[in-house]
Amino acid sequence: MVTCTKCGMQIDKSDKFCKNCGTTMATRYVKHFARVRMNEEDFVNNINKWLWENDRLGNIKCKFDYDSSLGFFVNKFKLTGVVLEFEVFDSAIVNVYGIDIIDETSFFSHMDKDELLYEWKQNNSDTEIVSVGGGTHHRGDSFSAASGIGGTQSGKLYVFYKYRRKK
Ligand SMILES: [Zn+2]
Repeated sequence: MVTCTKCGMQIDKSDKFCKNCGTTMATRYVKHFARVRMNEEDFVNNINKWLWENDRLGNIKCKFDYDSSLGFFVNKFKLTGVVLEFEVFDSAIVNVYGIDIIDETSFFSHMDKDELLYEWKQNNSDTEIVSVGGGTHHRGDSFSAASGIGGTQSGKLYVFYKYRRKK
């Protein structure tokens, strides 16, 4: 049995439509990308290439897997894998999906996730953010930690976005 995404009715896996509300039952697929001996940029570029080439995939959800390791100055997130969940359509869909990495370090100014995303959005105004991974981190003395000023601020965010395909 599967659950109708629209009305929540339990229906048979083999049914093409929901008997209750008529919604077409799409099959969702999962693809797992694991980063092995590759830097983050190359890893993300490979996934973006795969997304670009597989233009019939839609309603994509993205989950980022990452480790957090204590560096000398900053606490950095390291992307270890990406899980994509999607539906397959008969022809190319209108949206293009992609992943971007926001990587910022600052020694004085406060930094938070919303600000970084806001800045990113200013430079990518035609996109819509679908999901975000990673985070921000602060290292410094107790005063700067309490005030959020000074010390080392670092942020590394993984952004899964979509935009309309240009004709
Ligand atoms: Zn239904």
